[in-house]
Amino acid sequence: MAISDTDRTFLTRAVDLAEQALTAGDQPFGSVLVSADGTVLFEDHNHVASGDHTQHPEFAIARWAAANLNPTERADCVVYTSGEHCPMCAAAHGWVGLGRIVYAASSALLVQWSAELGLPASPVAALPIEQVVPGAVVEGPDPELAERVLGLHARRADVTRPAAGR
Ligand SMILES: [Zn+2]
Repeated sequence: MAISDTDRTFLTRAVDLAEQALTAGDQPFGSVLVSADGTVLFEDHNHVASGDHTQHPEFAIARWAAANLNPTERADCVVYTSGEHCPMCAAAHGWVGLGRIVYAASSALLVQWSAELGLPASPVAALPIEQVVPGAVVEGPDPELAERVLGLHARRADVTRPAAGR
């Protein structure tokens, strides 16, 4: 199954949420949980600015799904996310039994961009989702939206990088 126009609508929403996070002073990551009938059930963005680096939207989605959906409903959901799940969130996704994942930018690309932009390296390995959850159904990247995600990370780098000559 490739990324459809319907997928791209929800994926765009995930990137919009990533932009909201950036505007709010947080890292630009956003995710949306969509039911089998196309209803947005839950959405969130990163909340790591407070210092708790486990506050990822994909993890929040897994916890919300565990509390509010039965196993069949969870398996029928799709998770749209601006950046591919990190291993922590992929594991949470797998434990909770959520369905398909569609991402805009891959973890491998995010690692490459972060290095190029001078952002600090992640302390967690950028494993592909399928390496953490072998049964996961995963689509991505979406080249056009990944380009938009790169723009958000570049904006973040401009904010976090110490100004020259200061
Ligand atoms: Zn994560």
